[in-house]
Amino acid sequence: AFVTRFAPSPTGFLHIGGLFAAMISMHLAKQSGGLCYLRIEDTDKKREVEGGISGITESLRDFGIVFEEGVTGAGEERGEYGPYRQSQREAIYHVFAKELVRRGLAYPCFCTESELEAARLRQEAQKLRPGCYKEWAFHRDLPFAEVKERIASGQSHVLRLRSEGSHERHVTFVDGVKGLVTLSENDMDIVLLKSDGMPTYHFAHVVDDHLMRTTHVIRGDEWLSSAPIHLQLFEALGLEAPIYSHIAPILKQDGASKRKLSKRKDPEAAVSYFKAQGFPAEAILEYMLGLANWTYEDWRREHPQEERSSFRLELDKMGSSGALFDRVKIEDISKQVIARMDAGEVYSHVLVWAKEFDAGLAGRLENDPIYAKAILAIGRGAANARKDIAMWSDVPSYMEYFYEEDSPAVAAADVPASISPEDADRLIAGYIGLYRHDADRDEWFAAIQQLSEQHGYAGEMKRYKKEPAAYKGHVGDVSLLLRLTITGRARTPDLYDVMQVMGPERVMSRLKARKD
Ligand code: GLU
Repeated sequence: AFVTRFAPSPTGFLHIGGLFAAMISMHLAKQSGGLCYLRIEDTDKKREVEGGISGITESLRDFGIVFEEGVTGAGEERGEYGPYRQSQREAIYHVFAKELVRRGLAYPCFCTESELEAARLRQEAQKLRPGCYKEWAFHRDLPFAEVKERIASGQSHVLRLRSEGSHERHVTFVDGVKGLVTLSENDMDIVLLKSDGMPTYHFAHVVDDHLMRTTHVIRGDEWLSSAPIHLQLFEALGLEAPIYSHIAPILKQDGASKRKLSKRKDPEAAVSYFKAQGFPAEAILEYMLGLANWTYEDWRREHPQEERSSFRLELDKMGSSGALFDRVKIEDISKQVIARMDAGEVYSHVLVWAKEFDAGLAGRLENDPIYAKAILAIGRGAANARKDIAMWSDVPSYMEYFYEEDSPAVAAADVPASISPEDADRLIAGYIGLYRHDADRDEWFAAIQQLSEQHGYAGEMKRYKKEPAAYKGHVGDVSLLLRLTITGRARTPDLYDVMQVMGPERVMSRLKARKD
């Protein structure tokens, strides 16, 4: 069974790439009968934002990702392997750090910022790789007495790894997504503990992934290049490394080039954007599963009714270059997801959304739930359900003509091109005489046909062979006139259903209200 984790830093809103990694980690854990926990990587207090932790846990929960172990909210956590906030684990990191020092694998470094900067400039001038490696690690071999003295006198220092790696040698490992990867060994004396005693990401996550019995690490491929450091640390500590899987970021088309979705430039980089637009969480997760495995869409076509969770996610069936963010596709998937819901489900989803984002709509839904559900039920439930709602923010305009106060007054000019205003008046007047609310679908249509024939809008042109000038149009033109008059729109769901839901008073008042 897989033990995976999601390990965000509380430095801002939850990025879509974070949700992607969390979804994959959770799916892999669940399908293997394992578990996925949430760890907060908050060792950099300067970058932390107020409410960062609850922002992340709430956003994840909005998208149905709930952790049975780890941090569950701002002040809460659950599980036997905590604390799950790195800022509360300082003493644990120090135990591992001391062990490395004892074995000569780590040492305190007293370089100041300006000394490091000066070294960097000299390296640059000599066209050397920048960083702290053997020849450039100035405190690697200080005598023990001096180290003791400097520390006793309170000199600021960090703890560095004493790397025995060589840039010329290679390390090879199997990445869950990318397969066999070969990179240069790490020869940098990287920082393990910062001068405030807090660990770096490199050190902290190695200790934690071990102690929290992680088997698989799924993370963004910006970390791939530091994988040699991490494997080296596991080895130095004598611990077994988890399997690393580096996933490609979601990209955005920007002119002719592609780039990562940017927290600053793209509103859709924040998962809260999708919530505010009113995409069902299910649609976003479904979309992401398609990004995660190229086999998913075929599976979905073959198993239209199955739960997403019964799809078997395989990391080696994931593209290793980033997938393009595709808004049109999200809307498409969302329409299908919504079309699968019944009216009651749609109603409750829309209500939850509206309470947060559209008070007017919420009021309307709660005011007459039966009417609202009847509207939402039109064209739903059938195998070929209408796919015309992509997000909950589409619903106000989808429903508006069912409500008197919002239905636009239909002007006399709003008639199909083939119908003259005089004919339109005659047809509407004639229909008022024929309209019966309790007519079944056939009777209803027969009435419209009869009306059309009376006014020369019957059937095809060939019926008027003898007298072609008398042909005015098709029964479809008359239906369109009625649709426009009753709803103010040329395109709506089935007109019979619409009129049934509206009821006789509304229908009559629309027919009569048509002004000339
Ligand atoms: N805290 C790291 C980040 O937010 C986590 C990377 C990882 O999953 O190990 O990028």
